[in-house]
Amino acid sequence: MKKLLILGSGTAGTIMANKMRRSLKVSDWDITVLDKKDKHYYQPSQIFIPFQLYGYDDDKGCVHDSQDFIPKNVQLVITEITKIDPDKHQVETRNGTYDYDWLVVTLGCRIAPEEIPGMVEGYGKNVHYFYTMKSALEMQKALKDFDGGKLVLNVAEYPIKCPVAPIEFACLAHYYFELRGIRDKVELEVVTSMDGIFSKPVSSKILGDMLIDRGIKIVPSFNLSEVDSEKGIIRSYEGKEVKYDFLAAIPPNLGPQVIEDSGLGDGSGYVPTNPNTLKADHHDNIYVMGDCSNVKTSKAGSVAHFEAGIVAENLLREIHGMEPHPDFDGHSNCFIETGYHKAHLIDFSYLQEPVPGKLPFSFIGPFSLLKETRLNHWGKLFFRWYYWNILLKDRYSKPMEYFLPSRMSSRGKRKSYMAKSSA
Ligand SMILES: Cc1cc2nc3c(=O)[nH]c(=O)nc-3n(C[C@H](O)[C@H](O)[C@H](O)COP(=O)(O)OP(=O)(O)OC[C@H]3O[C@@H](n4cnc5c(N)ncnc54)[C@H](O)[C@@H]3O)c2cc1C
Repeated sequence: MKKLLILGSGTAGTIMANKMRRSLKVSDWDITVLDKKDKHYYQPSQIFIPFQLYGYDDDKGCVHDSQDFIPKNVQLVITEITKIDPDKHQVETRNGTYDYDWLVVTLGCRIAPEEIPGMVEGYGKNVHYFYTMKSALEMQKALKDFDGGKLVLNVAEYPIKCPVAPIEFACLAHYYFELRGIRDKVELEVVTSMDGIFSKPVSSKILGDMLIDRGIKIVPSFNLSEVDSEKGIIRSYEGKEVKYDFLAAIPPNLGPQVIEDSGLGDGSGYVPTNPNTLKADHHDNIYVMGDCSNVKTSKAGSVAHFEAGIVAENLLREIHGMEPHPDFDGHSNCFIETGYHKAHLIDFSYLQEPVPGKLPFSFIGPFSLLKETRLNHWGKLFFRWYYWNILLKDRYSKPMEYFLPSRMSSRGKRKSYMAKSSA
């Protein structure tokens, strides 16, 4: 019996378990998934929870038992992974050792507030997060008690999961304070280590202007060195200071410690990965997907979904003695909730930055790229149902590949922008 081992039962690991169980015979292949948690969280909900918008009052509907999404004839073992040994083709856990013929690493990434002096000390006083379910729920309480002053959203450094989350947070904070009737008492500022609100020029200008129109100040190129929660100040390595009353912090996002401890990491816990085949750069029989790889696209659930199509195909090719296809183009897409029942949508790849247009069909859409629409907003809200019922279980993968292909489609994208922005 051959063994496929999948590390992590988050977005990427769960989709892969479903895809591979359908492709590999039960009589020939044993598939095992290892994860330390028995719960699966829908992380995009954490953007709504602090503001209690659209029914996101608590974690109801945002967390389920992981086992519910793991297919029959796949073993899910709840245990902490302590070491990956690529030479012995073995993974060590608190419950024992697992051998593999092929390994898929989907261990996600983690927030690391301890990397910034003063951040942990200030937590719960005037420093708050929303990058875990627990902290998002705690921020909800803190925001209720906030009746005015300066709210600063700070991104300590990149990469982060969901790089549009700071934009969404700022827009939703503006909307939330308007709904509470105290927007005129709140100063909103986004302080980021990047030189704009997003990494790509066309969308950075459109989305940055949207924040400015809402009276939100953007402070770029601020590399956070310390949080002084006593004085309510954040400081940068460049010697700049920003005062705050309420700090909504996005702490550094690092790869899992076990990746670094096993000698597989790049120093930040991310696995060096071939950006096109998604195979680990320095190790045989290992593929890497989702947030824990170092490929230069967004750390997003959509990316994990698109990568799954490529990794499944490459794994099957290798199992049948063929070379993997260098096929992944960094495809990513994301709704950007902007308040007032509207959202933007972006769709891009390694070489093609987000541009205006329509998705998935030219002219008719119905979704609009880089434009605030109600339909995009309804798409964002509907996505949670789609995530639990279709995406994680990899249902209807053939028709879905047409609407949401693993490789980005140029269908519907405005040609004039594409000519300007292609690499
Ligand atoms: C606030 C927020 C908003 C977001 N919004 C969006 C959005 O709108 N659209 C979008 O596409 N994406 C969004 N994302 C990002 C998306 O949720 C992630 O990119 C996606 O879940 C990554 O999947 P993954 O499988 O790589 O990691 P995860 O889903 O995080 O899974 C990793 C798994 O590995 C397990 N693990 C880690 N270390 C160990 C260990 N040592 N032993 C055992 N198990 C271990 C963990 O328990 C976890 O279950 C958002 C994220 C956040 C935080």
